[in-house]
Amino acid sequence: MDPEDFTLIRKQLQRFVREQVIPREDDIETSGRVPDDLRRQAADMGLFGFSIPQEYGGLGLTMTEEVQLAFEIGRTTPAFRTIFGTNTGIAGHLLVQAGSPEQCKQYLPAIASGEIIVSFALTEPDAGSDPAALQTTARREGDSFVLNGTKRYITNAPVADLFVVFARTSGSRGDTSGISAFLVDATTPGIVVGPPDVKMGQSGAPSAEVYFTDVTVPASSLVGEEGTGFRAAMRVLSRGRLHIAAICVGLADRLVDESVAFAVNRSQFGKRIGDHQLVQGMLADSKTEAFAGRSMVLEAARIYDDGRSDRVLNACCKYFCSEMLSRVADRAVQIHGGMGYMRGVAVERLYRDSRLFRIYEGTSQIQQVIIAKGLLDAAS
Ligand SMILES: Cc1cc2nc3c(=O)[nH]c(=O)nc-3n(C[C@H](O)[C@H](O)[C@H](O)COP(=O)(O)OP(=O)(O)OC[C@H]3O[C@@H](n4cnc5c(N)ncnc54)[C@H](O)[C@@H]3O)c2cc1C
Repeated sequence: MDPEDFTLIRKQLQRFVREQVIPREDDIETSGRVPDDLRRQAADMGLFGFSIPQEYGGLGLTMTEEVQLAFEIGRTTPAFRTIFGTNTGIAGHLLVQAGSPEQCKQYLPAIASGEIIVSFALTEPDAGSDPAALQTTARREGDSFVLNGTKRYITNAPVADLFVVFARTSGSRGDTSGISAFLVDATTPGIVVGPPDVKMGQSGAPSAEVYFTDVTVPASSLVGEEGTGFRAAMRVLSRGRLHIAAICVGLADRLVDESVAFAVNRSQFGKRIGDHQLVQGMLADSKTEAFAGRSMVLEAARIYDDGRSDRVLNACCKYFCSEMLSRVADRAVQIHGGMGYMRGVAVERLYRDSRLFRIYEGTSQIQQVIIAKGLLDAAS
């Protein structure tokens, strides 16, 4: 994309987040949904498909451009990102990377425009950090597959039009080469979406269990070759870690701004609390860590764009930035004192929202395992 065009998009998004989304965060928290007009405006700006190639109606951004938009998106409630995050991210990219030309033509334009919402259904009650243990099955019957199983914590499931479902087509528990990916229309008979999960935070970002009972889909719903679903999932999740890390950086920046604004307005012992050096220490630590996160995300994105996508570096970014965000959120609450513990105050809500980033799309422990395994494999 022309750098000037990209700058315009980034500035438009920055203004939109500041002027339209942030003022409505409390409504989103209370109502548990992102208003339709914000969703429409997000679609008009191309947010449902910013990383989907232009030939399929997306903006076709590079990873470096994508993370810069994510820095802006991260500054507001994570519920806003969730309305388009799976479309332009892990679910949409599974098609970009592994879909047939027919599947890409059929689905990607509608995914990129936000006409349909697509969910990524990998996790199960007994397969979280260890997705190779998944038990959903896809049994071949002539020109069809029949799916049976339960998926858990599936983001956007209550509003999804399409599911990317990972199911076992052969082998037994732990055998990754027996896992395949399928595109499943949400209206297919046999699919039941459970009630929305009641969560600690991220109100407005719905998730739910999804039950598949004898769900029959045509063989053309298979994404890529049979047995390649697990590898495809790991590839898109690795790429997605840079996006998540960038969102964490944006949210950390927001929390720093909230902290500074409070520190210059609140006085104790006859002066602004920001003039107390222990408060300054917290502000300095948070700013420094957010800047470190931004720098590492930009560097890993540059490496990705050079065609040297690095699973270890992507995991380093997700690990550091999500943990960093929790520390920054904790300090933001501390700087606000009792006010930081009160409902209706932004840092209290963002503190709860930020906790999830250390858990989903691979917990911090799983990032540590990926990083260490990568180092040890390279040495042997
Ligand atoms: C709100 C929300 C939305 C989500 N959205 C989606 C979605 O859209 N699609 C989807 O497929 N999934 C989704 N998930 C699932 C998410 O990715 C999993 O929750 C996550 O991977 C952890 O799995 P688990 O919850 O089963 O925890 P477990 O795997 O049971 O982990 C429990 C604890 O054990 C630790 N642990 C596990 N294995 C190891 C190990 N080998 N070494 C060290 N520590 C370990 C973990 O780090 C964690 O601390 C979502 C989850 C939530 C909460």
